[in-house]
Formats: sequence, C-alpha cells, structure tokens
Amino acid sequence: MNNKTNYLLRDYKPRLQKRKKKKNLQSSLIGIIVLSCFLFYFWSPSNEDDSLKTITQMELLEIIQQEDTELIPEKEVKSNEESIPPILTPDTEAISSNKKIELIIKSGDTLENLFIENNLNIADLFQIMSLENSKQYLKYLRPGDRFSIEHTNGDIDTLTKNLNLTKAFLISKINDRFASSLVDKQIERRKKFGYGKIKTSLFEAAIENGLTDKLIMNLASILAWDIDFVYDIRLDDDFFVLYEEIWQDGKYITDGEIIALEFNNNGKKYEAIRYTNENGVSNYFTPNGNNMSKAFIRAPVDFTRVSSNFNPNRKHPILNTIRAHRGVDYAAPRGTKIRASGDGKIIFQGVKSGYGNLIILQHGINITTLYAHMSDFNSAFKLGDRVRQNQVIGYVGSSGLATAPHLHYEYRVNGVHKNPRTVELPQAKPIQDKYLNDFLIKATSVMNELFVYKQSQSLSVAQNN
Ligand SMILES: [Zn+2]
Repeated sequence: MNNKTNYLLRDYKPRLQKRKKKKNLQSSLIGIIVLSCFLFYFWSPSNEDDSLKTITQMELLEIIQQEDTELIPEKEVKSNEESIPPILTPDTEAISSNKKIELIIKSGDTLENLFIENNLNIADLFQIMSLENSKQYLKYLRPGDRFSIEHTNGDIDTLTKNLNLTKAFLISKINDRFASSLVDKQIERRKKFGYGKIKTSLFEAAIENGLTDKLIMNLASILAWDIDFVYDIRLDDDFFVLYEEIWQDGKYITDGEIIALEFNNNGKKYEAIRYTNENGVSNYFTPNGNNMSKAFIRAPVDFTRVSSNFNPNRKHPILNTIRAHRGVDYAAPRGTKIRASGDGKIIFQGVKSGYGNLIILQHGINITTLYAHMSDFNSAFKLGDRVRQNQVIGYVGSSGLATAPHLHYEYRVNGVHKNPRTVELPQAKPIQDKYLNDFLIKATSVMNELFVYKQSQSLSVAQNN
C-alpha cells in the first residue's frame, strides 16, 4: 500500500521530459487550433437542433415595406448619388448577367466597403439598411458572418445573411422595393466515420486522418472525466468515431455531434454512445448505460491552453524545488481559467504560504480538491459558496512558491493525497431505467456500425503495412 501510494504521489518529471519534444511540435499546431476555435465561435450556430427534423424553406415571417428615403441621413444620400454606377444595359441583357457571390466577413470589413469592392450598387445598400429589421441583423457584423448576394449588373436582387445553420435573414427585391424576411434553411446530417492513431499528439492524429479540430474537441470533452489529455495520452493510443457532418445546399458546413466513439488509451478501452431522451436532453453513456460524466473531471484546466504554451526549454518550476510533490501541475499562461473539477463548496479562499492564492473545495463528506498559485479568484464566489462542476473559480498565476504560471491541483480523500490523474472517481447516475431498453437497442446498433468500421480500418492498415 505504502509503495503504491508513493508511486501515485511521486514526481511526474520523467514523463514531462518525454513530452517535451511533442510539445514543441504541438505548440504551433495548437495555436492554429485555438485560433480556429475562436473563429468558429463567431459563426457557429447558436441553436443547433438535436432532432433530425427539417424545416420548410422560405417561410415568410414578415415583409417590411421600405421606409421613406427621408430617413437616410443627408450625407449618406449624397455619397450614394455619387457612387451610383451608370447602368444602361437593356433588361434582357441584365437578366442574363445575373450573378451570385458569396462573402465571408473578415475583421474590419463593412458592408459598404464590400459593396464597393464588388461593384455593387451602393444606393441599394442604403435602401436595404433603411429597412427596420436591417438594423438588427445587418448593422453589426462579425468576422465569419456569411452573406450571399444575387445581383444583376451590381443591382441587388437578393441579399442573404446566414444567422445560424437553420435561419437566414433575406432581403429581396419585390416590385422594385426591398423587403426583408426570416427564412428557414434546410440542413442535412450525414453519418461519417473517423479514425486516428497517436504518434505525436491527439491533434496531429486527427489532422493526418482528415478530422477537424471541432471533432477532436468534442471527443476530448466526452472523455474529460476519464482521460487527462495533458498527461494521459500515449504513443499508439487510437480512436474510432462515428459522427455527423452537417451539409447545406450540397456543401459541407461543419461537423455535428459525435454519435459513438471508442478510445483506446494506454491499454484501456473507453466507449461512449450519445443518447437523447424524450425531453430532448442528450448525454453520453457507456454501452451498459453508465454515465460518461462523473463527479470529477480529470484536468481542471483547458488542455489546449496548457499544451499551446508549454515551453520545452523551461525547467519545471515546482518539481525542481519541492521534493514531496503531492499534486499535478499544469503549466498554462497567466489568466487561463481554472474550473471546479466537481460540484462542491468553497471551504478555503485566500493566501496560504507556498500555495499563494488558494481555493479548497469540499465535495460531499470526504473529498477535497485544492487549486494553488492562482493569479486571481473569480469574484463571483466567496468562502462558503457552492460551485458547480466546470464553473470558473479562478485564474492561473504564479503566486506563492512558483516561478512560472501554473495550476497546482490536489485531490484528497479523507485528508490523504491521491493522484488526481488515476484516482477512482465516484460515478454519476446511470441512464434512467425507463430509457434503458431503448438505449441498449440503439447502443448495440451504433456500436455494431462502429465495429464494422473498425474491422475495415484495421484491415486497410494491415494491408498498407
Ligand atoms: Zn505543484
């Protein structure tokens, strides 16, 4: 027992050193990933629909008559007169030159400069902007916003802004006047399989096999209770995933939800299946119906932030100075969010010698978790408050005995330190009895699909070798 405990609590330095090479490769890659996640945030759908229902197109909700041109400020009217392009072509020719363009907003873009760049009639833009709903949907643009415009020699026929995957704001010319409406957009969900084998990092494995960052982040979040993606990933770990792709108008838009997955980590197999109950609530369960989510997540910091800023040339600040190291350190940039690993109550919030700014959470009767070296606490919480799993309780810093920003994280059972990475975690509630039969039927079916894919994948890997 003593030996085992020593093993559990010993320094993680050797492993860290092995990981240094990987980190170097990872860091630039993950920079891109973080950036793309950021960009995705700006155009990702705000109400992705879980159900498979489709919606009829072009449901006109309201048509707003164009307002009087008096409403356009005098200055704008003037500039608009100046920039009206001379259009002298006869109607028949105009119809034949109807064109469609797609625009994706970049930082600093305005509709005005996009109209000028694309030789579109700026007077039309002023009329469009004078419609009541245009203020709501067109006035403020964000990078990643998508427009499609149909025009005839620069005169606008339709202008569509995608609001999210299933809704668009449409401006169309009806009897020489512009009208606006909200339209439903149909989406198609296609089933896809993916595979990856870890040679250097999870993200590289994904990229090699044509999988997106979004898919990998989803996968990591489903497994966040079981796998610490900072420290647990090993060479030759592999995964198989069945997921949805979202298509629209014959084009791939984004990855949808993961339907089922298998992840083989360090000789241990994890399987998860998505199940949506009759109330539309979705969760992931093991093939037996156990909840994938548990009372504690493994790593209380975002692993992409940890990896992207890991400096392989820097000596680990704490491992070299404290011999009996009783927790896990996550090197991360100052200000990285620290999340409560489980539901609990704040029983300490303040400064404590080497720990610096420290929070201790009490979970149930016998478990405590400890978060040290914070730069700041989340001001929303104070001593005695209850926090939920994943709520931000503070930010990474280097207060106390630390020479570089990192989170020092401890997990104690009855006051005894356990390795947070390997400790057996209390289970969350399994699937409700009333859903169990339905779940088992569906789970068997999707796991079979995944198994068939896995077989074919293994076969093709074997053939290539
Ligand atoms: Zn530490």
